[in-house]
Parts: sequence; structure tokens; C-alpha cells
Amino acid sequence: MDNQSLRETAERILLNTYGERKIALVRGEGVFVWDADGRQYLDFFSGIAVCNLGHCHPAVTAALKKQADTLWHVSNLYLMENQIRLAELLARHSFAGRWFFCNSGAEANEGVIKLARRYWHVRGTPKPGIITAQNSFHGRTLATLTATGQTKYQAGFEPLMPGVRYVPYGDAEALESAITPDTGLVLLEPVQGEGGVRVPPTGYLAAVREICDRRGVLLAFDEVQTGMGRTGHLFAHQHEQIAPDIISLAKALGNGIPIGAVGCAERVADGFAPGTHATTFGGNPLATAAGVAVMETLTAPGFLENVRDKGVLFMDLLRQLAIRHESIVEIRGKGLMVGVEFRNPVAPVVAAMTDNGVLCGAAGPNVLRFLPPLVAEPDHFAHAAATLDRALEEMGW
Ligand SMILES: *Cc1c(COP(=O)(O)O)cnc(C)c1O
Repeated sequence: MDNQSLRETAERILLNTYGERKIALVRGEGVFVWDADGRQYLDFFSGIAVCNLGHCHPAVTAALKKQADTLWHVSNLYLMENQIRLAELLARHSFAGRWFFCNSGAEANEGVIKLARRYWHVRGTPKPGIITAQNSFHGRTLATLTATGQTKYQAGFEPLMPGVRYVPYGDAEALESAITPDTGLVLLEPVQGEGGVRVPPTGYLAAVREICDRRGVLLAFDEVQTGMGRTGHLFAHQHEQIAPDIISLAKALGNGIPIGAVGCAERVADGFAPGTHATTFGGNPLATAAGVAVMETLTAPGFLENVRDKGVLFMDLLRQLAIRHESIVEIRGKGLMVGVEFRNPVAPVVAAMTDNGVLCGAAGPNVLRFLPPLVAEPDHFAHAAATLDRALEEMGW
């Protein structure tokens, strides 16, 4: 079927949650995808920071094929070798010595919230209150859309979960002022993704760490989007010399196979006990086979250093465009998580880029977001920048 007939059927048969979609993607290889009409695109959105290693990465594909012939699913009633191996790899490369696996980012953040609540409960000092940031994004379940500091995601789903307060992102003093005796958890993205690719001021995360320690509040980082090498370190908070108590992961952990994870420091681990939290699918042998292959690839010598270099290269190319196009307000980001803020809404730019064969997306109304595969090469970055240059030229921006 071609793009047009798939679109007509979709509009009739799928719930209308995603708005207008014009093309169906049917194949991917490395940095490229192809649509149902056979057209090729440079994929600089990676399925929203999921296919960080590009499409059908040989190591991940081989691991999945092997596992598909061996064992798919047994439930968490049994030990699973790949799940244990993935936890060991994550522990070796992070502060978090303990792991729980689930299936998505929202579900990981639900796990973070439940772990924090029960951590205080078992200590006999219940502190159910949560502080998150304005413009944050933490997911679409009822608890995580409450944690999300953007009313557009919440409207119509009231009543929301009680006990969440929102503070301006990047302002440590405002965060401290919002702490009450009820506050048990601060949940932050180390770089805000959905909210506009916002990098906090240097020292912000360390200041929040110090405040949480001093005021007796758990600190969790939502690294669902920033994790798995996206910003040039395995986890974005590793740019600074601090660690949270709890971390959530998902998106690129399986390079496209649905998997999420909650990791925590040993001192927090007694928040969960047998029977307190569970999932049927979470961490099954198939999903964790992908996760192991992803971790092995990302932590190979030189890989992440290379991502940092590519991030500098790409942002330099975009900064040259900013000089020539009045419509650009700012280029910002970290590693290969890159935002281009415009004076006006960017929906037409995203459409023009797609028409010109480069996939990218938005992060809020005025920010164009690039999430290139971490395996993209200099030529691909040059092509994406040149395509944006031409698209803006044609639009008179
Ligand atoms: C995408 C995202 C989520 C939600 O993940 P899902 O897998 O869509 O539930 C949560 N937090 C952040 C920072 C994200 O970018």
C-alpha cells in the first residue's frame, strides 16, 4: 500500500490521538528510512531519540534474532539471564547499583514515584509530595502527566494526582523555597526535551543535589530522553560530578524494542520489597537482549567521545545558519540533542524539511528539535544543515 491509501485507512480505523500524518515509513537502515512510496529520508529524529544506534543496527539485530530463536518471555516469576546481564552493565556504568525493568518511559517514572513514596513510608515518615519543573515532560499516565509541568497535557484529565508542585526550571532557589515537610521527591530532566531542548545553567543540577541532601529529599533524574549516549555521556547528569538517588530510562535503551528501567542507589533500594511493584512484560529476554547489545555498543572505547565531537560539529554548522537567518533566535543543546529556537512556530519548517527528505521534529511551538542517530557521519550533518538552510531560504525565513 502507498502513503495515501495507508493514510485514508488510518484516519478511519485508528483513534485520532496523533493528528495529521502524511507518510508511512516502511524500512530503515542506519541513518536512512524509506516511505511507502519508496522515497528515502535522512532520519534526524530517530523515532524521538529511540534509535540512537540507527535503524537495524547490526549488533542489536543479531542479538534479537538469536534471542528470537531461543526464548521470548517467561515472566518475572523466573530469573532471566539477559535481564541480569543488562542490570550488571547499567550498574557498572552508573551510580545505580539496583535495577527494575519495565516497558516505557511513563512506566519507569511511575516506578520512580512509587519507589520514592514507599522509601519514606518504610521509614515511618511518609512524604508523598513531589516537586517537578515547569515545561517538563514525564509521560502520559495519570501520575506522570500530573508530574509533567505543562497544562496542555493535563487539560480534560482532571482530577490530577494530588501533591505535585512545579518550579521554574534552572532556578535552584525557587526549588528550595517550594520544599515543604511533605516533599519526598524532586524529579527533573537533566536537559528538558519535549519542553524545548532547555539546558539548565551550569551548576544547577549540583545545587539541586546539595539542596536535596540538606533538606532530606530524594532526587530523581528522568533520563528517558537524555540517556543512552544522547548528550555525549551515557547519562546526561554525568556531565557534572553529581548523581541522583534514582534514575528512569526508556527510549533508546532497546534501540526500538520497548523497554524502560528504574535504577537507584543501594541506600534507596529498600523502598521496594517483594510484592510492592511488578510488571508482566518488563525486562523479558527479548527486550533485554536488545538492551545488552545497545549497552555494549555505546560503551565501546571512543564511542561517546565521538558523539561529543559530532555534537560540536553539528551545532557549529547550525550556528553558521543562525548568522544568515534572522528567524533563528538560538541554537542550543548538548551532544546530539539539539534545539533551534525560531521567532515563529516551527510546524512549517518541520514540514519543509520532510518534503526535502530530512526528518526532524518540534519541541514546543517555536523550537525545531534534531535527535540524529549517534552513528551519523559528518556528511549527514552537513546535509541536514544545508537542507535547513535551503528550506528557510525558500520560506523567506
Ligand atoms: C518520552 C519521555 C517520557 C515518556 O516515555 P514513554 O515511553 O512515551 O512513556 C518520559 N520522560 C521523558 C523525559 C521523555 O522524553
